[in-house]
Amino acid sequence: MTDLLNVDQALEQVLAHITLLPAEKVSLFESLNRTLAEDVTADSDIPPFPNSSMDGFAVHAADTTLAAQDTPQQLTVSMDIPAGAAPQRTLERGEAARIMTGAQMPDGADAVIPVENTDAQWKPGGEINLPAPVKIYRSVKSGDYVRSAGEDIHAGQIVLTAGTNIRAQEIGVLASIGCATVPITRQPRVAILSSGDELVDVDQPLAPGKIHDSNSYMLAALVATYGGIPIRIPAARDTLEDVRRRFREALDLQPDIILSSAGVSVGAFDVVRAVIDELGQVNFWRINLRPGKPLAFGSLGGKPFFGLPGNPVSAMVTFDVFVRPALLKLRGSVDHTPTIQAVLTEDLRSDGRRSYLRVKLARENGNWVARMTGTQSSGALTSMVLADGLLIVPEDVLHVQAGQKLPVRLLRNLD
Ligand code: AMP
Ligand code: MG
Repeated sequence: MTDLLNVDQALEQVLAHITLLPAEKVSLFESLNRTLAEDVTADSDIPPFPNSSMDGFAVHAADTTLAAQDTPQQLTVSMDIPAGAAPQRTLERGEAARIMTGAQMPDGADAVIPVENTDAQWKPGGEINLPAPVKIYRSVKSGDYVRSAGEDIHAGQIVLTAGTNIRAQEIGVLASIGCATVPITRQPRVAILSSGDELVDVDQPLAPGKIHDSNSYMLAALVATYGGIPIRIPAARDTLEDVRRRFREALDLQPDIILSSAGVSVGAFDVVRAVIDELGQVNFWRINLRPGKPLAFGSLGGKPFFGLPGNPVSAMVTFDVFVRPALLKLRGSVDHTPTIQAVLTEDLRSDGRRSYLRVKLARENGNWVARMTGTQSSGALTSMVLADGLLIVPEDVLHVQAGQKLPVRLLRNLD
């Protein structure tokens, strides 16, 4: 195994070649699922003014101290403050201002009496003749039912930090501080190539000896899932000329990363490696990994290049282990895919390479339990559909006994 590169060292080498993409500005909604490129600071308080958290009456709390069900306190309603209006004057002692949820508190008032604790009967339409008496049945303390200015966000506060993945709640916060355009890291453009005389596109019938090109669609979907822009190139024939032509076509599209699948093992028609040597360079090839040993990494036209294995499961596993972290680094994001520990239900043999095995997970007696998903053939893509995760058997391990715990990288959310 000495000629095979350790997975962690290989990943380290890959990441050393990856640099953060520049920032760009997009409109607020377009920033969903993108990565914030800079810290975002609020330039004013949120909420911008003290406001009522209830429909009721703004008062001086000191005017309500004696109020109770049997001894209501009468105040004079002298102002009406609907949401969106600015109070016209200071509230004097003995006065109350009818106020709606979210409306600005008048100066002088320091508490709100919810309408339920008064004798007021509001009709739809909201007309009120001022001045009007109102009976208060409960006392309030200073600050009750008032949301102070800056309660959520203070002027000058960093509300979101660079590297944040923008979800619905971040969009909401950005909207609340009036951020109409958002600085985000540019999305990585990823060229995706396939090679093989056996490949036909998904909309073509299968002639004898042919199969559909599933890798390029699957890889495009993975790229999109992790925030990149996939660019699929038609599959190359197994000739030097055609592979060269397709790689040149890919480079003309100015990708940030180039992915190819197949043609990097040792078969007689595996010409990808030769073309990479010609147009760029291969930094390493052959990883101590199963599935996915024949992974090539290098550069092409100055851009990082991954030559993934042709077998679909191997292509997917190597994407997960190497390409995904590279994409996330390019877009300045961190990896949130959880790894859990799960108990094996059966004895396992391994070949000393780091192995990623497809498993189903179940919760039993407070533990996660992992069971193999039938075939582990690297050509059987349905095993990736069935799998909840990839169980990782470390390198240099030849036997694992049932009952042992091993890490599992999750492929879906567990419910
Ligand atoms: P290779 O690396 O070219 O020797 O291919 C290894 C295996 O992966 C072969 O069984 C190929 O038919 C299969 N394969 C290669 N490319 C693709 C693809 N784009 N879609 C599906 N299977 C593929
Ligand atoms: Mg091939």
